Amino acid sequence: MRIAMISEHASPLAVLGGEDAGGQNTHVAELSAALAAAGHDVRVHTRLDAVDLPVTVRAPDGYDVVHVPAGPAEPVAKDDLLPYMPAFGEWLADRWRTGDWQPEVVHAHFWMSGLAGLAAGRRTGVPVVQTYHALGTVKRRHQGAQDTSPPGRVGHERRLGRSVDRVVAQCQDEVAELVRMGVPRSRMTVVPSGVNLSTFAPLGPVAERDGARPRILTVGRLVERKGFQDVIRATALVPDAECVVVGGPPAGLLETDPYARRLRALAESCGIADRVKLIGAVPREEMGRWYRSADVLVAAPWYEPFGLTPLEAMACGVPVIGTAVGGLRDTVVPGRTGDLVPARDPAALGAAIRGLLGDRIRRFAYATAALERARTRYSWSTTADRLADLYAEVATVRRPTRVVA
Ligand code: UDP
Repeated sequence: MRIAMISEHASPLAVLGGEDAGGQNTHVAELSAALAAAGHDVRVHTRLDAVDLPVTVRAPDGYDVVHVPAGPAEPVAKDDLLPYMPAFGEWLADRWRTGDWQPEVVHAHFWMSGLAGLAAGRRTGVPVVQTYHALGTVKRRHQGAQDTSPPGRVGHERRLGRSVDRVVAQCQDEVAELVRMGVPRSRMTVVPSGVNLSTFAPLGPVAERDGARPRILTVGRLVERKGFQDVIRATALVPDAECVVVGGPPAGLLETDPYARRLRALAESCGIADRVKLIGAVPREEMGRWYRSADVLVAAPWYEPFGLTPLEAMACGVPVIGTAVGGLRDTVVPGRTGDLVPARDPAALGAAIRGLLGDRIRRFAYATAALERARTRYSWSTTADRLADLYAEVATVRRPTRVVA
C-alpha cells in the first residue's frame, strides 16, 4: 500500500533524548521501516525545520522522509506549532492532488498531525488513521498550570477521535481515557508499539560498570514527569547501588541544563552524589549497550502514554520496575517480568528495587520472562502487520472529497 505517515514535530531522522524528541520519533521510524520491509511504499511527512533540508530524503530503512514547509524553517517548540497546521494540511492536499503519488491511507501521529492529516484527507478523499501518542487531558491532570499545550487541545483531540476513520490506541489505559473524553469505543483498535529485536537483544556490547555496584538504569528525556527525582530518592534507599540516568541534552551541555542541575543537587542532598551518573543523550544504536549493563531498568513516570524504554530493556533481558501508569500496565507483568509501584512514591520504589536486587533468582526469572514477552508480543513486524490489515480495511471506504475553493 501507499502509506502517508504524518509526524509534524517528530522526525524519524532526529537525534533523540532532547525535550521534544523521544518515543514518537522512534515509533514512526521503526513502524515505517517495518512496513517498508513488508513491501509497502511509505512516506513520512514532517515539518521542514532547517533551511538546508532537501524536500525528500531516503531513510536507510527503505522509506522516504518528506519535509513539509509549514512555518519558519527552523526549530519551533512542539507546543507552538498549531498555527502552522493549516498550511501543513494544504501543502499535503495540493501535492497529493497534483503530484504523481497519492496515498491510500494517512496515519497521523500526535493530535496536531491529525488536524493536518484530516484537512488533507478531506480534500483528497484519503482515509485517516490517528494515533495520539499523548493526550491533553492526561497532561493537564498531571501538569496543571505548567502544561504549555495550546488552548483547545482537548476539544481538538475529541473532535479528531470522532472524525477520523480509525483511532489506534497504544494501551488499555489510553482506551479508557479516550472513552472518558467522549470518543466511541467502536472507533478504536488497540495496537501497541513494538521494539526493535535486533537492536535490543541480550547479547552484544555492554557499557562499562563501576566495579561491583549493582546498576539501576533509568532512561528518558530529562523532563520532570519522567520521575527521575523519584528514582534518585529511591536509590538512596538501596545500599551500594548506582543510578545511571541516560537521556537529556548531549553530555557536553548537561552542566548547564537546569533540570540536570536539580537532579545533581538532589543526589547531593540525599548523600549519594557519588552514586548518581548523568550520561546525557545517547544515540539510538548505542542504547542496547546501556540496557545490557543494567541489573534493573527503573521507569518511574508520573504518567506515560506508552513507554518504549521498559520494552527495550525487556528485549535485552533486563527486568523492569516501573510505576503502574499508562502503557507500563500492559507491558510489565507484576511478579513475572518485573514489579509495578504507585507513581511518585520513592519509598515504595526503593523497597521494590532493594527487594529485586537482593534476590538473584527472582531477577533471573523476571529477566527470562521479560525477554520472552518482548519477543513474542512486541516485534515491530507484528505491529506493522496488524496496522497494515487495519489500513487495508479503512482504505476500502472511499470518502467523498470536499472541494475547498
Ligand atoms: N532514547 C535514545 N537516546 C536517549 C534517550 C532515549 O535513543 O538518550 C530513546 C529510547 O531508547 C526510546 C525513546 O528515546 O526509544 C524514548 O521513548 P519513550 O516512549 O520511553 O519516552 P518518550 O520520549 O516518548 O516520552
